[in-house]
Amino acid sequence: MWSRKFEKCINCGTREVNHVAKGLCRRCYTLKTEANHKNFERHRRGVADEFLTRERLYELYVEKQFSLTDIGKLAGCTRVNVHYKLQKFGIDARSKTEVRTIALDRGKIHTT
Ligand SMILES: [Zn+2]
Repeated sequence: MWSRKFEKCINCGTREVNHVAKGLCRRCYTLKTEANHKNFERHRRGVADEFLTRERLYELYVEKQFSLTDIGKLAGCTRVNVHYKLQKFGIDARSKTEVRTIALDRGKIHTT
């Protein structure tokens, strides 16, 4: 037997290359691992998109009154992208006056 469970590599059918794991020979297992890694990299780029759902944006931006920059930091993207998402979901971006009022409330702007 090639391995305890498999007679040969389930991918390429070889018995010449040693079994590594999950019915795959060293060669196929390495290729598969690299392919998974590439999928993961691809997935990584969409993480901000997955994070920024309409519900989460509404919660962070409208209810908790996070700034675009703060949300961008949480999502791992730029504030421009966050702003784009707000528009896409039809959430009104705050006016400058509102931003200032919120900043005042939070003690970000100190008036003398
Ligand atoms: Zn193989």
